[in-house]
Amino acid sequence: MSIKDNLLKIKSTIPSNVTLVAVSKTKPVSNLMQAYEAGQRIFGENKIQEMTDKWEQMPKDIQWHMIGHVQTNKVKYMAEYVSLIHGVDSLKLLQEINKQAAKHKRVIDCLLQVYIAEEESKFGLDEKELQEILNAPELNVLQNIKITGLMGMATFTDNKELIRKEFYYLKSLFDKYQKPTTDNRQLSTLSMGMSGDYLLAIECGSTMIRVGSSIFGGR
Ligand SMILES: *Cc1c(COP(=O)(O)O)cnc(C)c1O
Repeated sequence: MSIKDNLLKIKSTIPSNVTLVAVSKTKPVSNLMQAYEAGQRIFGENKIQEMTDKWEQMPKDIQWHMIGHVQTNKVKYMAEYVSLIHGVDSLKLLQEINKQAAKHKRVIDCLLQVYIAEEESKFGLDEKELQEILNAPELNVLQNIKITGLMGMATFTDNKELIRKEFYYLKSLFDKYQKPTTDNRQLSTLSMGMSGDYLLAIECGSTMIRVGSSIFGGR
């Protein structure tokens, strides 16, 4: 099947309130262009350098999402154009994103990454840390960022019940912290679900799925 066929097939299985991020990391621009020509406008990358190279080469109506772990000293390279940063896990990072966004007179949307998996290696906040960031008085002055939702990655396993439990946990936090604390903290996006588990994620309340290999093939 072609990239276009894969994309259209996935789109036909997801409800209209769920946003599809086409995860194009490691894939060449020619592959991304096939998805673009099939109508896809949101792409996810996990390396800032690679995303910037692609942004420079590709049409400017694309929304670029950073889905990987972000180092503070590299925020400046994407601040001009990035549309959503999924993996934010500290106040310090939010402050740097705010500073770099201000230089471009932009407001950058951010998701807070919550740790939901059993594996040790996954990044993210626990509930207490999440609560601390959502209530941090330091955020009140950050005019150039907006916390628009939560992101999480389930354990890499075939155990559907475990994945379901992890997704429901993230959804429960999403519901619990719905009430906006300030204008720049308003949870409306729940980013969860990848190629192997996006249908399950949608069942558990996901509003944004990040799908790579099911569109572009293995990496
Ligand atoms: C690579 C990646 C994806 C996409 O994974 P697939 O299994 O290829 O769909 C989704 N989210 C994050 C954070 C990723 O790094």
